[in-house]
Amino acid sequence: MTERSLDDLARRVSAARAEVEARGETFYPGPSRINLAAFPPKERWDNWVELDSRSFPKRIEKRYMLVPTTCFNCESACGLLAYIDKETLQVRKFEGNPEHPGSRGRNCAKGPATLNQVTDPDRILYPLRRTGARGEGKWVKVDWDEALDELAARIRKAITEDRHNEVMYHVGRPGEDGFTERVLATWGVDGHNSHTNVCSSGARAGYHFWTGIDRPSPDHANAKVIYLISSHLEAGHYFNPHAQRVMEAKQAGAKLIVLDVRLSNTATHADHWLSPYPGSEAAINLAIANHLIQNDLYDREFVRRWWNWKEYLASEHPELEERFEVFEPLLKELYKEFTFEFAAAESGVEVETLADVAAIVATAGTRLSTHNWRSAAAGNLGGWQVSRTLFLLSALLGAIATPGGTYPNAWNKFVPKPIYSPPHPLTWNELTWPLEYPLALNELSFLLPHFLREGRGKLDVYFTRAHNPVWTNPDGFSWIESLTDLDKVGLHVALTPTWNETAYFADYILPMGHSSERHDVHSYEQYDGQWIGFRQPVLKVARERLGESVADTREVNPGEVWEENQFWIELSWRIDPDGVLGIRRYYESEKSPGTKLSVDEYYGWMFENSVPGLPEKASAEGLSPLEYMRRYGAFEISKGVGRVHEQQVSPDELTGTAESRFGRVFATSVKPPSCNVVPQATPEPDQFGRRAVGVRIDGEVLRGFPTPSGRLEFFSTTLASWGWREHALPGYIRSHIHPAALSPQQMPLISTFRLPIQIHTRSANAKWLDEIAHSNPLWMHPVDAARFEIGSSDLVRVSTEIGHFVVKVWITEGIRPGVVACSHHMGRWKLTDQGQRQMMATVDLDNTDGRWGMKRRSGVEPYESADADTKRIWWTDVGVHQNLTFSVHPDPISGQHCWHQAVSVSKAEPGDSYGDIFVDTTKAHQVYLRWMELTRNALAVSPDQTRRPYWLMRPLKPAIEAFRLPKVRT
Ligand code: SF4
Repeated sequence: MTERSLDDLARRVSAARAEVEARGETFYPGPSRINLAAFPPKERWDNWVELDSRSFPKRIEKRYMLVPTTCFNCESACGLLAYIDKETLQVRKFEGNPEHPGSRGRNCAKGPATLNQVTDPDRILYPLRRTGARGEGKWVKVDWDEALDELAARIRKAITEDRHNEVMYHVGRPGEDGFTERVLATWGVDGHNSHTNVCSSGARAGYHFWTGIDRPSPDHANAKVIYLISSHLEAGHYFNPHAQRVMEAKQAGAKLIVLDVRLSNTATHADHWLSPYPGSEAAINLAIANHLIQNDLYDREFVRRWWNWKEYLASEHPELEERFEVFEPLLKELYKEFTFEFAAAESGVEVETLADVAAIVATAGTRLSTHNWRSAAAGNLGGWQVSRTLFLLSALLGAIATPGGTYPNAWNKFVPKPIYSPPHPLTWNELTWPLEYPLALNELSFLLPHFLREGRGKLDVYFTRAHNPVWTNPDGFSWIESLTDLDKVGLHVALTPTWNETAYFADYILPMGHSSERHDVHSYEQYDGQWIGFRQPVLKVARERLGESVADTREVNPGEVWEENQFWIELSWRIDPDGVLGIRRYYESEKSPGTKLSVDEYYGWMFENSVPGLPEKASAEGLSPLEYMRRYGAFEISKGVGRVHEQQVSPDELTGTAESRFGRVFATSVKPPSCNVVPQATPEPDQFGRRAVGVRIDGEVLRGFPTPSGRLEFFSTTLASWGWREHALPGYIRSHIHPAALSPQQMPLISTFRLPIQIHTRSANAKWLDEIAHSNPLWMHPVDAARFEIGSSDLVRVSTEIGHFVVKVWITEGIRPGVVACSHHMGRWKLTDQGQRQMMATVDLDNTDGRWGMKRRSGVEPYESADADTKRIWWTDVGVHQNLTFSVHPDPISGQHCWHQAVSVSKAEPGDSYGDIFVDTTKAHQVYLRWMELTRNALAVSPDQTRRPYWLMRPLKPAIEAFRLPKVRT
């Protein structure tokens, strides 16, 4: 298209906008660029008419009711509109919800594919209980009451016998903000376990040490320079909402810099693609930082005001005056070793390229948006320093909470208060928060089999929910060993909408709803603003619009599929039917005391009482807040949040405050909120800044950041005082796959990427996605292929520390020479014919004293089902389950599993077949023990007799009393 016709289009779009807005209607800028009904106007959502495509060429009109919900296929929570056929009351399709402020009507392929998940002929529709041995694959249908009663009795017994730590809930993608954490808090158990340490905790730790908040919120749309360390346009965090804003910025002239070992889809859109040696990303960040520092290209005023440089001087140079002019030369000294030459030697990227990129970053000013998620931070020993050094660039340029800069995520996220807030549990679970990891940001979830093997504890009731550790985690055979040992795991309950490798080793499988079959509320940082989204069971809403009443989602969901909110309310009620344990009161109706809290009352209360602006907005349309959310599915609370840290603290808040030596201002008489008991003795604020009210900057008390100092912590007093002084500054830690750590036969394997069409366990039952992406060949550069004398599609054996897998090769120049890569979202398997048949191979397992083998019996094939498309399956491949052959690599500080592997690659051996796996779990335990030696135990390093710094974030934070260390000091 020529520039002239583009201009013409732009004029027509403006005219169309003016015309629509003049009528008082909403203008939906759509993908057509000329707004040809890109989205159905919301005024017509009750009766939307489309021609039936199946009846073509006849013109048959179909009438739909459009009901919003949100996608559950990744963490972005994009808005969806369910098109519900008014004749059949069935969902015909899912498309984007234009009223959703984050996704703005757009979705990736996985959003519309929700329809496949809902109609999947292989999905689990009824509660199942095992009848044979665990893992034997024999199941019987049971009713919900039977399952609930057994679970409730066991949990009640564990609680009353003070075995709180034997109850654990292990979640993958939560998809909601805090509902289930609060359920566990009402039970008084420290039983929350997450997947985050196999996902993003490395990146989170780097951000958290700087800002007191564990995620960034880059304002990509307004950036001048965008610097990404991840394949963000296809698979990064919040990727569809972010990707559309990255592209907007590019269209406005922004430069995109991408660090990625592979030529990802994101790298193909970059102005500068750097393919560094994996693990060297922090060295590149530091070289750019050094360029800014040595050439005085940083924002001096921002650094002077907001960095905690005084604490650095006081701690590391107590002999010097605490003046900024003293600090600046030291800053130059600290980073002078990180030259372009140094970074080039570490990364293999040319000096000139690094210098070019540094020069571009230097031009960004406060419009530098940066993001690292998973990727390098999840791959390497010390990966948390990748995000810490990345944020150093933003902090040097003052590009924090500025248009086009990067915000702390909590400022662009809104978590509404629920109707009840239980106290924090009094217990501490060392199976998830062991003493060896006082600074880990999340649960050491992936070490659970090793902790159970060592006898550190046992589980009486273990829930897995939207999580599949046997397949997703490293070292899956150790998980199978634990899950099949009834002395270690008394009862395993898999809460899942679909079959998965972990569910096969459950006692109960309880079918949970997909994104159009359940309620959740959530909010994610996707731009400089705050919104909440509402996931809802769309057929309930449709029937209620027609005047029916639906009290239980099982009335409208397929089979006996339930939603989790109602499940947890019912289970909690049965644990404490008479209210003696103090649990039941959190599940009672406020409107009708003594009766059960309904989901409608729960969300109705929340939207009425704790979402600013929603009641007024709803009332303007003659709706209650709940009705408004049911109608539109999302609400934008604020836009342009801006520089929260620069806000002045009001004189009222300053009454009765005290100030620390470095200007942190604390309230001295705090009445703690009921849900967060903060004792007066705690020396530092909690993660929400609830005790600290501000920080004095140049004579004014400003809101600041929720760190111990109230400033950006260039120098982490926490790392310094908890035994890691050598890493208290943003720096460079050589990875476990650094060339110096590899033998001549070894090379790095990158397994932290995924194809954009699939996501972990949840998308395998989506036929459209399976058809597009069902294989994960090993990426190999032609230079390496020639070295190994390997051709495309040849089989190779990839050997790790504990075993090997056999996979096909894809020869491509889209990978750095000397590195191989394999997507981790493939290789699904099942042991029997029962299970998901579109994306799971059927395999045989063999185990002799911890020496495990997996052989593929068959790939996928066409089959008869209620869906005629299953007869049309043409692919047989489903990829290879490489994660089984990875041992655990817990980073000693962040606790993140360091995914990258040192492997040797060789031609497949005689007898090797595609998909073969071999693993020795005894060796896996030895590797675990080696990594444990890197840790520094809280018993040895805690400066204050606590297990962990109280201010650090923790999902489901226990009461302060539980933070005290056990008495014995080693
Ligand atoms: S990015 Fe795709 S998978 Fe993720 S929530 Fe949006 S539509 Fe769903």
